[in-house]
Amino acid sequence: MAQSSKNRTLEILKAAAKGKYGVLAAIAYNVEQLTALVRAAEAKRSPLIIQLFPSTLKQLPTLAHAAAAAVRSASVPLCLHIDHAQDAEHIREIIATLPVDSVMVDMSHYDEAENLEKTKILAKECHDRGIAVEAESGRIEGGEDGIADTEGLEALFTSPEDVDKFIAAGIDILAPSIGNVHGDYGAAGPAPGQIHFDKLTAIHKQIDDRVLIALHGTNDFPPKILRQAIDNGAVKLNVNKLLLEVWNEHLRQNASTTSLVKLIDQGMDVLQKETERWMDICESSGKA
Ligand SMILES: [Zn+2]
Repeated sequence: MAQSSKNRTLEILKAAAKGKYGVLAAIAYNVEQLTALVRAAEAKRSPLIIQLFPSTLKQLPTLAHAAAAAVRSASVPLCLHIDHAQDAEHIREIIATLPVDSVMVDMSHYDEAENLEKTKILAKECHDRGIAVEAESGRIEGGEDGIADTEGLEALFTSPEDVDKFIAAGIDILAPSIGNVHGDYGAAGPAPGQIHFDKLTAIHKQIDDRVLIALHGTNDFPPKILRQAIDNGAVKLNVNKLLLEVWNEHLRQNASTTSLVKLIDQGMDVLQKETERWMDICESSGKA
């Protein structure tokens, strides 16, 4: 594990693991969403991980600086994490030039040996700069914005061997593949038994506090399933559509009848409320 005592992401997650609650790791695509997420954290006195995609860093490089400014000025623990960074050279550019606290070094589109080798090298480079590292063991099926899709590559569940190999590669946060998928499950959420909580429990036990657990692929999760993930050891809950759908729906419903300024203002309120609701579900509210 990294020289973690001063790393914001790891401090937030270790406190959550100790306190047995979950922390939202929420994607923002623009400064309004970022603002709404931060307002929710302040209003609920909750820790929060702000996540940006590498594709967003290319479209909107200033957003990383806006997020870092929010992290520094907030009165609650926040941090900036880069989700699914799949290109080694882009990772090197990110860690050398942007004020990030942690990066998901996602080499899961390579075979396992190459995945582990690249992860180990990049984890060392991140740690040298005080940046924490997340990696995906096995392979989570599906794709997200700007991320190489694993289409044609089968989902591979995380095995006990994977867990030890990834810990040996020096990572700080493990994102296991336990039936979770990137993309939509459908309105009712995952099918019964689709998320293998028994595997999550076993992984959590095997890890024995050596690294922290992130859960990806939470679109359409009902609160009960998210709670179950937290109760079985996940502390970092990656959320995208789970929060942002209310923002999208607000724009879809009101764009033609509302002035732009008002539309955006109301959208921020809607997203803040939804984020607060999920902070309550994660029980991170009041923990800052
Ligand atoms: Zn993911």
